[in-house]
Amino acid sequence: MTSVKVRVPAKVNVQLSVGPLRDDGYHDLVNVFHAVSIFDEVVAEESDSVTIRVEGHTVDQVPVNDDNLAVRAARLLARHAGRSPGVSLRIHKTIPVAGGMAGGSADAAGALVACNELWKLGLPMADLMELAAELGSDVPFSLLGGTAVGTGRGERLTEVEAGGTFHWVFALADGGLSTAKVYAECDRIRQATGEKVGWPAVNEDLLRALRIGDPKALGPELSNDLQPAALMLRSRLVRTLDAGREHGALGSIVSGSGPTCAFLAGSKEHATDLAVSLKAAGVCRAVVTAEGPVPGAVVV
Ligand code: ATP
Repeated sequence: MTSVKVRVPAKVNVQLSVGPLRDDGYHDLVNVFHAVSIFDEVVAEESDSVTIRVEGHTVDQVPVNDDNLAVRAARLLARHAGRSPGVSLRIHKTIPVAGGMAGGSADAAGALVACNELWKLGLPMADLMELAAELGSDVPFSLLGGTAVGTGRGERLTEVEAGGTFHWVFALADGGLSTAKVYAECDRIRQATGEKVGWPAVNEDLLRALRIGDPKALGPELSNDLQPAALMLRSRLVRTLDAGREHGALGSIVSGSGPTCAFLAGSKEHATDLAVSLKAAGVCRAVVTAEGPVPGAVVV
């Protein structure tokens, strides 16, 4: 085999609860991940050296050197397997860059699966999950896909069986937001307001809505503790979220650290109508519809 193509999804956090800042600089999280049908493609081809090419929208912000998460994933896997890391990686990005949808993590997960196949390593999922956790707290979920509760820094995952397909509309923004800056702003706001931050806990009503596949029940339960910080750093997102609510979204939320906004619809038709209204409202760069849950990184 000289070439392997892997498709890997974006995620939206349907719950993101951020605990107090820990001494090591991280936060304990309860993170309910949901994989949606916006996909990056990672193609791995045989090569003597490690090369990376990135295609798609706003890819000028994606590093094309050893900082690229896909390259880091390939090198980590090669080291783990005790072989040379030679591979030519090509990424086609559809997941918005620095958009709060785990695009970099998706590419890392895609590279792990693609190189495992290309190099005929035959490593089981459990091994890939461990390597994924070393690369970043969202990478294990990008491998797994579906819907899952993440605890710790988000990397300890428990799958949730979703009882149906949910229909989403995503409002993509111009320019990204740095995840680190959004967390720092969240800490700053909490300190300034003296907010008492409790231990994060999973919302059982949200899990029930996911399990029975009920978008009407899920909409009001969507929550994101990073949203106030994202809105503080990018105030025009307030208008974007308002527009979604005005046009009948069942739930409106900033996706992860933003600036992408996610809107839950009641059906595929509702999602299409909502997308048209959001586009007409002129509150974002682009609008895409997607459904979830979808599987994690798969060879195609
Ligand atoms: P998350 O939701 O996991 O917090 P994000 O979706 O907001 O992340 P990414 O698209 O993962 O953000 O990009 C964050 C930064 O990571 C980018 O600005 C870029 O510099 C860097 N990066 C490294 N590798 C990649 C990659 N393969 N794709 C995108 N960004 C990458």
